[in-house]
Amino acid sequence: MPEHQIAMVLDLNKCLGCQTCTMACKKQWTDGEGMDTMYWNNVETRPGQGYPRHWDRIGGGFENGMPRPGELPSREDYGQTFEYNFQERLFEGGSQAMPHEEVRNTPNWDEDVGALTGGENYYFYLPRLCNHCTNPACLAACPRKAIYKRPEDGIVLVDQTRCEGFRYCVRACPYKKIYFNELLGKAQKCIFCYPRLEKGEVNACARQCPGRLRFVGFLDDPASAVHKLVKVHKVALGLYPGKGTEPNVFYVPPFNPPRRGNYGKSVLDDPRMPMDYLASLFGEEVVDVIRRLEGELKKAQAGGASEVLQLLVGRDAGVRYQIQGMKKA
Ligand code: SF4
Repeated sequence: MPEHQIAMVLDLNKCLGCQTCTMACKKQWTDGEGMDTMYWNNVETRPGQGYPRHWDRIGGGFENGMPRPGELPSREDYGQTFEYNFQERLFEGGSQAMPHEEVRNTPNWDEDVGALTGGENYYFYLPRLCNHCTNPACLAACPRKAIYKRPEDGIVLVDQTRCEGFRYCVRACPYKKIYFNELLGKAQKCIFCYPRLEKGEVNACARQCPGRLRFVGFLDDPASAVHKLVKVHKVALGLYPGKGTEPNVFYVPPFNPPRRGNYGKSVLDDPRMPMDYLASLFGEEVVDVIRRLEGELKKAQAGGASEVLQLLVGRDAGVRYQIQGMKKA
């Protein structure tokens, strides 16, 4: 077990789906050779296929303490890659920024489409990154012992000199947040921006997020917002807790007020999103968490003080990020 565990909390009520975090991460870390389909951070629409496509249906993680078999996503599941045609669009009078009209199934294709049917018009955005799990399935699966958790902060890293590219880790990760660089023959993944953290700079995804929905700090630091939201107020949950890896990225679930009918004029009995759907993502506990959040909202609306909502507003970067304890490796 690491001495400390760094963690991130994301408030899903504030995500705009703008992909600024995705681009901040891509420009910073995965702009290199063999990394075209690598999105250490992505934002996907839920319900939707996700990225890589159907990642949550192809196994990985643990079941009753034993590794659960997982599959490798296919090349198509990572979507088509392309370069925008900015030169022609901006400087040569062209009308198309897309290189051709047939670009489909790009990494953020779901962002615009989701899985809406017309009858079930609900969705929210789910930003995803490696969970720097307490019990990482990728680490357990690696026969080369190339994957390790840093003892000082629990960040999960791949030792590139030890990795032989067997891809057992890709199969094992239930979140498919470890990627394979075909040019280098190595597994690569989110490094939780540790070189930035060591300089006192917060993660690029969090730094650039216009929604200010990301909180970063040590889970075991009682002064940090992540500790308060996860451990004290218990309003943030891991994604797919049943996968058995004990993720250290937590989500404040979306509020789920009653659905409205008659073009918004009447309030219906059932919630905006099926609670079963939210429970399938965040576990049964999500019902109590949403109830707790609604209680805080009512308290604040009645003029009372709510530390939870004050924290979630996240106006002050000094409150959102508590990384002072970050040690240089
Ligand atoms: Fe490993 Fe996947 Fe957990 Fe990241 S999310 S630590 S890659 S098992």
